Amino acid sequence: MMPSAAVQESFDVYSVRKHFPILNREVKGKPLVYFDNAASSQKPQVVIDALVNYYTGFNANIHRGIHSLAEEATAAYEATRDAAAQYINSPSREQIIFTRGTTEGINLVAQTWGRQNVKKGDEIIISTMEHHSNIVPWYILAQEKDAVLKVIPVSETGELIFEEYEKLLSDKTKIVAIGHASNSLGTINPVKKIIQKAHAAGAVVLVDGAQSSVHLDINVQDLDCDFFVFSSHKMYGPTGVGVLYGKYNLLETMPVYQGGGEMIKEVEFGRIIYNDLPYKYEAGTPNIADTVALKAAIDFVSQIGKENIRKHESELLAYATNQLQQVPGLKIYGRAKDKVSLVSFVVEKVHPQDLGILLDNRGVAVRTGHHCTQPLMDFFCIPGTTRASFAMYNTIEEIDILVDGLQRAIKKLA
Ligand code: PMP
Repeated sequence: MMPSAAVQESFDVYSVRKHFPILNREVKGKPLVYFDNAASSQKPQVVIDALVNYYTGFNANIHRGIHSLAEEATAAYEATRDAAAQYINSPSREQIIFTRGTTEGINLVAQTWGRQNVKKGDEIIISTMEHHSNIVPWYILAQEKDAVLKVIPVSETGELIFEEYEKLLSDKTKIVAIGHASNSLGTINPVKKIIQKAHAAGAVVLVDGAQSSVHLDINVQDLDCDFFVFSSHKMYGPTGVGVLYGKYNLLETMPVYQGGGEMIKEVEFGRIIYNDLPYKYEAGTPNIADTVALKAAIDFVSQIGKENIRKHESELLAYATNQLQQVPGLKIYGRAKDKVSLVSFVVEKVHPQDLGILLDNRGVAVRTGHHCTQPLMDFFCIPGTTRASFAMYNTIEEIDILVDGLQRAIKKLA
């Protein structure tokens, strides 16, 4: 079942599918068509095996024990740190902090760097298309500090209006927190350019990589971002673990986040010396099993090859866009030139939720609603969309099933 160690030379979606046992199941008597990958992707057998192997082979608490199981568990946990560092081209493993996911990564930065550096009257820039995870932590910080949240507007095609972003920047801007790719529209934002402009204004940049880390090559050094966050579960890894990358000097000088075991070197009641990076931000027993299994996901993606995956997903996106466009009354939201592989749409006179239910009856899993981007839905004056988001294991035939299911559903509902 394991792919070969080298990157697969040719990409065969039917071979890839064999790695994902869940794809064999049926839903409502029909083969599962899983198009909710932007919410969470399915897991290959190697990831499931990594979890089972951890619990059956070497489960123990890490870093503290000198017995063999503790050493093996620690080595496996730390091996994921190396794999994650390599995956995003971090200059060092110490700059990889394990979190619960993207949400925790953003909260960590807001509550540490943010609390230390954002003062009354300072400005925080986000965008209209941010996920609630990249809005609420900044809103909380702005409320606490009496700072101002500024929002980059988007165009009708679902792209950031760059000139407006430039106008928002000033010497009051302390941080720009921006999604690399939109979970609702698919738009890939020009983060490198955004970062250059922010740095020129003296601000730091956090990139929300929840939707990009699975689809795009991530190079934090080339981007020159100050923080980059992502979740394992959206890139074929387990739930409950994610990564925060930060520039070394920032991570070193930021105050601590949570207090507890492991994040300290010495504790006296009147004096505490905190641990070095990365442990300074990893208080308590972490999610060892899922972190260990994240390495299996990273290795799996690397072996299939990001380039192969991107090419396949681009074909799916082009095909789906073309087919969906032909459905009468269907409007696609998010028509940016540069998109990750998802299509969001609304069908005239049909509520997205009704569509979702009828599609589920045909075994097709799509996401409906506001996708945790209510301000973006408000901008488009819609309550929500239906979203089909694709992964390496989806096929053209599955898109045909979606389109056929849609046409039948519309006949019933419109
Ligand atoms: N940002 C974006 C763009 C997302 O798509 C998501 C998940 N839908 C998140 C942040 C939050 O990720 P998590 O729930 O894994 O913390």
